[in-house]
Amino acid sequence: METVNTVAEVRNLVRQWRKEGKSIGFVPTMGYLHDGHGSLITRARENDKVVVSIFVNPMQFGENEDFSKYPRDLERDCRFCESLGADLVFSPPPSEIYTPGFCSFVDLSALTDRLCGKSRPGHFRGVCTVVTKLFNIVKPDRAYFGEKDAQQLAVIKRMVQDLNIDVEIIGCPIVREPDGLAKSSRNTYLSSKERKAALVLSRAVRHAEALVGDGIIDSDTVVSALYDIIQSEPLARIDYVKAVRCLTMEDTDKIEPQTLIAIAVYIGKTRLIDNLIVR
Ligand code: AMP
Repeated sequence: METVNTVAEVRNLVRQWRKEGKSIGFVPTMGYLHDGHGSLITRARENDKVVVSIFVNPMQFGENEDFSKYPRDLERDCRFCESLGADLVFSPPPSEIYTPGFCSFVDLSALTDRLCGKSRPGHFRGVCTVVTKLFNIVKPDRAYFGEKDAQQLAVIKRMVQDLNIDVEIIGCPIVREPDGLAKSSRNTYLSSKERKAALVLSRAVRHAEALVGDGIIDSDTVVSALYDIIQSEPLARIDYVKAVRCLTMEDTDKIEPQTLIAIAVYIGKTRLIDNLIVR
């Protein structure tokens, strides 16, 4: 496996692979990798070559968010990628991605003004800008994103369609800890008391699944049941609980296939998300 940190080095390798007729799978990440990322890397091996980017993108963090304290461990991440059969890790410094005078952005006019986009103004502009840049650098055939960040997945799919970016976007299921907590690099922020409290998210998701399984299709009924569960946890503060359409993020009164039941909850100072996509 190669590890590089300049755009030129990625381009050289990719050019070579393309000449050899190899297909390229791409997994963009912010590092501090866990089995959730691992599942994307493993899936990406359906391509001839797998590229993983590790870049804590300053543009997608708000002023009062956790950019500087976001966990980082590049050496461990590289070992992890290698053990899963990745071919290339691209870990650029911010100065390689945002050169002096940088002033071009990718912004969607819908989809990004609700849920996480509403709570984190500018977040998706940062995500879409960096992902577009990474697509232009890596030129993958397929790119892999987790359903854990369901709104991000919908936003990227929309962006790729709108801008005719020649890449197939593949969504992968949420990977969880044995006790149900969705894996996240941000779980490392939780104290042991908070870690226990954080289980309220997956408990709520499971409850939603059970209600939908019982044939309850009224969104308000499900959402208010989830509010009750989450509010029963003293350390939890709800950011949102919503039932929306998976592709457009528009509210829906009725739960049906492709409804996304999405939750964002602060546990102490840590904001966690989880969701259920109704199949
Ligand atoms: P991040 O490093 O948090 O930006 O995540 C990089 C990619 O990994 C995104 O596409 C995430 O949706 C995905 N991802 C993060 N956590 C999980 C998880 N628990 N299960 C599946 N995918 C995940």
